Amino acid sequence: MKLFKKLALFVIAIAISLGCTSPDSQKQPQTESQAKEPTPPSGKELAQKYIIVDGHIDVPYRLRNNWEDISDSTQSGDFDYPRAKEGGLDAPFMSIYIPVRYQETGGAKAVADSLINMVQGIANDHPKKFAIATSPEEIRQHVDEGLIALPTGMENGAPIGTDLSNIRYFYDRGIRYITLAHSRDNKISDSSYDTTEDTHNGLSDFGREVVQEMNRVGMMVDVSHITDEAFFDVMEVTQAPVVATHSSVRHFTPGFERNMSDTLITRLAENNGVIMINFGSTFLDSTSNKSSTRVRTEIEEKIEERGLEPGSKEAQEFSETYFEENFQYSTVEKAADHIDYVVELVGIEHVGLGSDYDGVGNTLPTGLKDVSSYPNLFDELLDRGYSEEDVQKIASGNIFRVWEQVNKVAEGMQNQ
Ligand SMILES: [Zn+2]
Repeated sequence: MKLFKKLALFVIAIAISLGCTSPDSQKQPQTESQAKEPTPPSGKELAQKYIIVDGHIDVPYRLRNNWEDISDSTQSGDFDYPRAKEGGLDAPFMSIYIPVRYQETGGAKAVADSLINMVQGIANDHPKKFAIATSPEEIRQHVDEGLIALPTGMENGAPIGTDLSNIRYFYDRGIRYITLAHSRDNKISDSSYDTTEDTHNGLSDFGREVVQEMNRVGMMVDVSHITDEAFFDVMEVTQAPVVATHSSVRHFTPGFERNMSDTLITRLAENNGVIMINFGSTFLDSTSNKSSTRVRTEIEEKIEERGLEPGSKEAQEFSETYFEENFQYSTVEKAADHIDYVVELVGIEHVGLGSDYDGVGNTLPTGLKDVSSYPNLFDELLDRGYSEEDVQKIASGNIFRVWEQVNKVAEGMQNQ
């Protein structure tokens, strides 16, 4: 629990106990709020009270393209310090995202290093607002000090190249999970977005070694983005629970392999892992998913019809407005449906939050537009009968359990 909240609750507890024990004759006239039953907590209160870990936020790559000072309010983007504080976000995993083009051109490791440097620079420049975190314990400490903790995860295993010792290298640089592949097959794994023939039919032989080495080092294995075959290969090899840092439920988006099927989620839960729900509308809803493809095609056609130069400011403005007016946005309620679905399928212990803020463009659902929005989702869950304890598990309890288990497995392997 956050320290200031502990103090506040302590004061409230004293106030309540004093109120209850005072004899009737001495009772002060009750104010309206004192006379009522204690009101159930709001989403906003729970967001401030419990640690929120988000599995995947694409701040580093956003800033690489368009630098802004995220320690203050920013014009664009889904994340900045004031909005994170408002939403109760404590520990966004900063995504060290490596575009697949570096798999072909080389240089993936250098890009990863530069993005890690950037995140460390942000923490160094704003020590009263941010601090790098490499464990659940460090996150708890930073949160107690009122800071936003910045853990890091690497999206795409390409920077490992063909050298297993790079896993240790990136661990030492603070990285705590690696998403095995991104949008194309790489040396480690096939990608669910890659429509060409599967390169490895799952994990490569090297990929199996990568998973073993990640277990040994204490690096979480992120199964978001990989194919179903690759997922099952991971399950065969891994000795530790794994995490899907930003995937949703395929039941709601049939045919969209980037989300997880019931079979996959069940297998993930048997392994004691966690699926962190992606908030992007196209991940939540097949209507949005189809609408995205349709609207983007229409935009291309209309840009051509109007004789606009593709990539020009006019074309950009036109496409943004057209997208906003015609895309079918999903909703915060739908995100709660995904959580409900996982809970019904495998229980409350296996679901978390992996918004993909700053990574899904302007497709975010109504009610979940940026990092100030977590309270809206918690309100929805409370309305559906979720307890405080349930919300806490979703917010951070489940990912902390997985992370601590990964550390334990690594310790065991290193002592062998
Ligand atoms: Zn991603």
